[in-house]
Amino acid sequence: MNLKVIHSEKRLCTCCMEEHEVKTVCVMENICFKDIPVEYEATYFYCDAAEELYMEEGMIIRNDIAMKDAYRKQKGLLTSKQISGIREKYGISQSDLCLLLGWDRKTITRYESHQVQDGEHDAILKKLDQDPEWFLHLLSEARESLTIEAYRKYLNTATMLYEDSQDNSLYCIGGNSG
Ligand SMILES: [Zn+2]
Repeated sequence: MNLKVIHSEKRLCTCCMEEHEVKTVCVMENICFKDIPVEYEATYFYCDAAEELYMEEGMIIRNDIAMKDAYRKQKGLLTSKQISGIREKYGISQSDLCLLLGWDRKTITRYESHQVQDGEHDAILKKLDQDPEWFLHLLSEARESLTIEAYRKYLNTATMLYEDSQDNSLYCIGGNSG
């Protein structure tokens, strides 16, 4: 097995229950997820005494997300980080974004972690990324359900993004004529 050591630290090893230098290692894993072969980098602890790889709870979650992100890339879907990136661009909370989109309020939280979004929801998120005008439209429709502070904050951010997108398109029309 090809282990890449990324960290080593003296700590209680929960594999052999002794205190010793425990290595954190990366391993390329190949599995089949939803009929698609995916390769991803998983992180484990390594116990030299038992010669065993093992995971603790946080690692199980991170490895699961790494695997699903590899699957998302294979399928051309947004990764969990890209989804949180779109949301952060608009400065909007997970639950308020669900409100704008008319989705169950935990949907975005799940998409930013372990749950793979379907193609339809993926397309909506990509459109939202590219189209601040549409965001502003959804925001105005959801206005009554938001606090006034949240509404103003999202309005300001999306308006700025919209104006930037208008500037950019004008710039493109100008092209390389100069
Ligand atoms: Zn050990």
